[in-house]
Amino acid sequence: MIDYLIDSHCHIQSIGLDDDPTGLLWSSKGSLSQPAVIKASLQKGVKIMIVVGCTLKDSSLAIQLANDYSCVLPAIGIHPHEAINFLSLDQFKQFEDLIDDSVIAIGECGLDYFYNYSDLSLQKKLLIWQLQLAKKYKLPLIFHVRQAFSDFWSIIKDFLPLKAVIHSFTDDKKNLFQAIDNDFMVGINGIATFMKSSQEIEMLKAIPLDHLILETDSPYLTPVPYRGTINIPKNVFYITEYLSNLRQENFDLIRHQTSFNAIKLFNLKGV
Ligand SMILES: [Zn+2]
Repeated sequence: MIDYLIDSHCHIQSIGLDDDPTGLLWSSKGSLSQPAVIKASLQKGVKIMIVVGCTLKDSSLAIQLANDYSCVLPAIGIHPHEAINFLSLDQFKQFEDLIDDSVIAIGECGLDYFYNYSDLSLQKKLLIWQLQLAKKYKLPLIFHVRQAFSDFWSIIKDFLPLKAVIHSFTDDKKNLFQAIDNDFMVGINGIATFMKSSQEIEMLKAIPLDHLILETDSPYLTPVPYRGTINIPKNVFYITEYLSNLRQENFDLIRHQTSFNAIKLFNLKGV
């Protein structure tokens, strides 16, 4: 049995920066430091933290943090919100140049039609380019998809089979089963702890345990009962506890299987 948790999606690489590249919340929380956040998470049994890039700079920060901590592993990506800021050939080249042996995945990438910060055609172009990179470098993908599943499925069908997770999954059972049919993992975070409708609860219960991975998406989406505080990777513990009660599955079993799934998806060696 695997006796530790994995936070498969967090953004702790920008803690403490004045010019936080993604406009995250860390900068407003001056008391947090990377060593303290990582230490607290390790103490709560979260042995591996996957830091996920949203911009060019954010992705390079992810790689830097992973250089400093063996428990931190980097994924690099350009978020769909950023498509409007990521247009030059030079940026594409700089991004590809970041890929080295330490990088475990491409992401987060995808489509976001909820906020629509970037033009749809730019979002699609950026996703397709990152799909091509993932294929070229044989890396799994971390997808962000919000209110855009119909376009998303039609784009990715040309790239299947793929190793991937749909992170922060909150959609319906139809899209859940489509993800499972593609053998994708489903990433669940603190949102689960405040899902209330019967449809949402049924969806959470319907995720097959062998396709479930856990994440915090820190600093966002703090789980109950810590709403109102900033989210850090240690809180993956409380998400596990919540799912254990909701799904009537043993905590140790969820911890084992979700860590096993993440190790398999991201091809983690020696953990
Ligand atoms: Zn994220």
